[in-house]
Amino acid sequence: MPTMPVDNGFYVTSGFGPRWGTFHYGTDFGRGGGSGGHPVYAVKDGTVTASGPASGFGQWVNVDHPASNGGGLTVYGHVIPEVRVGQSVTEGQRIARINPDSRTNGGVAPHLHLEWHRYVWSPPGPDRLDPMAMLAGARWPGTPPKKEPRMAQPSTTYTQLTTVDRGWRDPNTVPLIAIHTYECPRESGERALRNRAQYQQTSGTGSYTVLVSADGKSLRANDDNYTPCASLHTGDRLGFHLSFLAYARDSRETWLAYDTQLREAARICAEWCRLYGHQPRHLSIAEMRARKAKGFCTHADISDAFGESDHRDPGKGFPMDVFLRYVTEALNPAPSPAPPTKEDELNTDQHRMLQEIWDQLRGPGGKGWPQLGKTEKGENLTLVDAIAEIRADLDKLMEK
Ligand SMILES: [Zn+2]
Ligand SMILES: [Zn+2]
Repeated sequence: MPTMPVDNGFYVTSGFGPRWGTFHYGTDFGRGGGSGGHPVYAVKDGTVTASGPASGFGQWVNVDHPASNGGGLTVYGHVIPEVRVGQSVTEGQRIARINPDSRTNGGVAPHLHLEWHRYVWSPPGPDRLDPMAMLAGARWPGTPPKKEPRMAQPSTTYTQLTTVDRGWRDPNTVPLIAIHTYECPRESGERALRNRAQYQQTSGTGSYTVLVSADGKSLRANDDNYTPCASLHTGDRLGFHLSFLAYARDSRETWLAYDTQLREAARICAEWCRLYGHQPRHLSIAEMRARKAKGFCTHADISDAFGESDHRDPGKGFPMDVFLRYVTEALNPAPSPAPPTKEDELNTDQHRMLQEIWDQLRGPGGKGWPQLGKTEKGENLTLVDAIAEIRADLDKLMEK
């Protein structure tokens, strides 16, 4: 999660979007009582690619972010730079201060103008992203990094958390477990999962809660208490979103051929059921709209229920019946051993052998062997008793 470029107490004075008959490709930050001279911080780790005079900004700083950190480039305008080109900066590091000279920002009050470019510096257009969307979940400078969530949540093979989310939510208020297909081949392994998550991050196209690969590995892209960007607002907020690396056009036979993939997804879903009380059943559209029952749905169901998207994944071939049975099985793991059946009892030969061993030790009917001698009470000795007698006799002989 990134860090805000200004201190707590600043607010957005002008957002990303249409403004004065043109389009404002950035977010302006200011604070009551004046912003001039206040520090500006790098939103993420990166390398300074520009620092100094820039048309329209007075001066600016550009920071390029490595792909391993979500990629992109951020622009800090109307500032006095405090870093030089080529310098590495860390998230939350002070890199500039807001220029108090209004002549450098078109004569309005001093403020920070922040831009977020998709890959590298890009002219005005679709590769300039809404900075506030990218800053969703960001912390204020100087506050400790967000703790890993203390709450329990389903474990996954890998974790690669995204910044493309819709912010915090209470996972206890999430009624749906929504199934998607990523619309890609049935890829396997860590690299495939990480690449698919990374593509969503750098392209800003969306995110799921969990991705599951063909070989039954899983990757978490959002903690349960963050709303992913998987199905537009309502469906996103109401769901844990699990996406298979698969196509919605895949047939039922294809789905069933990837049993380990279904099983891993079912294991994760069963954990959600256990933690939050979802039932392993397919909710009706009416139930989804009522938002009372907790259960399963598809992205297609979300499209039908809330009308915000037209996606039909995971497709008609998705074997919801088998999948929910797997979830149920994962919820009720192997029952305790069954009582012994006929097969578990000794067969006739085994029984006879056991009887012989017992007879040898205890005598026929457990009454000792007459040839071993008798006790003081006149009973036949058993094998063990007889050996004890012999030892006692031996001891007496040795004493003499
Ligand atoms: Zn601006
Ligand atoms: Zn979907």
